[in-house]
Amino acid sequence: MNDTAEPRIVRCPRCGGDSVYGPGNRWRPFCSERCKLHDLGAWASGDYAVPATTPDTIEPDASVRPE
Ligand SMILES: [Zn+2]
Repeated sequence: MNDTAEPRIVRCPRCGGDSVYGPGNRWRPFCSERCKLHDLGAWASGDYAVPATTPDTIEPDASVRPE
């Protein structure tokens, strides 16, 4: 048995979906490039910081949606 080489399914920190935590997933622990980039972008834009102003007029998820 080679249990250590078997990919595990973890929860994507970004979208909460299934993510393969193994060599086949270069974006781990995220499920995809999109989720990883989105998460990094959120950090860069201060999404995880305490906002100085009320972001009620800003919809981050909607603004990055291509369609
Ligand atoms: Zn995801």
